[in-house]
Amino acid sequence: MKAGVAGWPVDHSLSPLMMQAWLTDAGLAGSYDRIGVQPDAFAATISRLRDAGYRGINVTLPHKQAALTLADEASEGARACGAANLLLFGPDGIVADNTDIVGVEAALAESGWQAGVGPAVLIGAGGAARAALHVLNASGAPVRIINRSRDRAAGLVRSMGCAAEIYGLDDAAAALEGARLVINATSLGMKGQPELCVPLDALPPGAAVFDMVYAPLETPLLRQARARGLRTVDGLSMLIGQARPAFEAFFGQPAPAGTQVRALLEAALEERA
Ligand code: NDP
Repeated sequence: MKAGVAGWPVDHSLSPLMMQAWLTDAGLAGSYDRIGVQPDAFAATISRLRDAGYRGINVTLPHKQAALTLADEASEGARACGAANLLLFGPDGIVADNTDIVGVEAALAESGWQAGVGPAVLIGAGGAARAALHVLNASGAPVRIINRSRDRAAGLVRSMGCAAEIYGLDDAAAALEGARLVINATSLGMKGQPELCVPLDALPPGAAVFDMVYAPLETPLLRQARARGLRTVDGLSMLIGQARPAFEAFFGQPAPAGTQVRALLEAALEERA
């Protein structure tokens, strides 16, 4: 069975390492490839991979919205997010799903956050923010979005039919007042990017901070949260959480629970640092 991840650039993707480790531990003979695809070649490449016998493809930046448009059928989550990170090739066409939603849910479960305890703050309004906004909205928690471009955040909320208060980065302190959960879905804090500078001192004890960034694993935001004694979750929890259902969809069985996949990814990140 063949599967892979399509993106541009895709060299940095940790998915092949994860999937291969699970394949080996499951004793399966499948393969999982890294497929570099420029935006103007995406549709043609998907068609070629389908003809070549691939079971399906994970989709990453910048193709997640285009992926949805290629699907004959889409999960409710993919439709709600307006984006898909998983395409499955079946006899009746292409089925799209968004397992980033599962990844966000896994990270939030690890954070101990419970909807209903207070406002949740989502920082960012790009592709990664979509799954988080979907999960937060479904939880019923009041949502505040902080984004450099308020217009982009307003557009995201509108396009997803969600409810959220919108703040700019210059107004972050007001948004964070009393929040029980903070999610960073911007690229700030990534290696080579500026830090995400928001004050966490207005968060109550017991609040949780989840940073989607995983290179580095300990971002300045998570360092600040730990120094304040807040609960923290790093980006690997989401990365692993979104990959598990994809593995099962591609290879027909759950990813082996015993694989030390986090340790493997941490070692790979350490090597790259
Ligand atoms: P996008 O390019 O779609 O969005 C980028 C976001 O970051 C926007 O909100 C943008 O604000 C903001 N941003 C970027 N640069 C700056 C800056 N200099 N100052 C202020 N804001 C800035 O990227 P994605 O949403 O796809 O990815 C965001 C992050 O999430 C990345 O670090 C990515 O690695 C991570 N990610 C992690 C996953 C995981 O499994 N852990 C899965 C997917 C993504 P604006 O709208 O104003 O431009």
